[in-house]
Amino acid sequence: MPVLRLVLLGPPGSGKGTQAARLAERTGAQHISTGELLRAEVAAGSELGGQVAGYLQAGELVPDEVLLQLTLPLVRRAAEGAGYLLDGFPRSVGQAERLTEAAEAAAPERVLLLSVPRAELTRRLLGRAAEQGRPDDTAEVIQRRLEVFDTDTRPLIDYYGRRGMLSRVDGAATPDVVAERVCRALQAPPG
Ligand code: AMP
Repeated sequence: MPVLRLVLLGPPGSGKGTQAARLAERTGAQHISTGELLRAEVAAGSELGGQVAGYLQAGELVPDEVLLQLTLPLVRRAAEGAGYLLDGFPRSVGQAERLTEAAEAAAPERVLLLSVPRAELTRRLLGRAAEQGRPDDTAEVIQRRLEVFDTDTRPLIDYYGRRGMLSRVDGAATPDVVAERVCRALQAPPG
């Protein structure tokens, strides 16, 4: 597995977390989920958690400064080790630019886009809500998170595509099947 500075891009429910966890196990690269990091801060009742709780609950993006302060040190450290799998970051062109500038040699090499039809995303997220009870998995907030993906995050498909870094993976299948597709995509050149 040659590529270890990887961004997993895709809407909520597309399987980024599942695939990142599997890749982390196979490669030793560090799975960095910004959603998990932020939820942990909220659960711990930290000052940062207090600043971001409202955004998470509403399905809005937390401010870039807060997010970058939390994430960039982890990204740099992981890049010095076995690499990283970014799950949920960057989520806007602004964040991607900051990541490339600030990380320098630790910047991402490749981006995998997981595509899943909207109806399937909603079905998966409502299913997860019933199982895990995440407070941002209500029907209304799910809708908002999908909208935020469309307006803020979707432009990254073009952004990374133009830079020749993007591979597309059809994510509408079981985790095992998608994992196979992910492996194949990473063994081929991007594009
Ligand atoms: P996730 O677990 O990736 O679906 O993220 C859950 C929530 O965390 C999002 O709805 C945002 O409120 C916040 N979040 C996660 N990653 C980011 C990011 N890169 N930028 C801003 N907010 C984020």
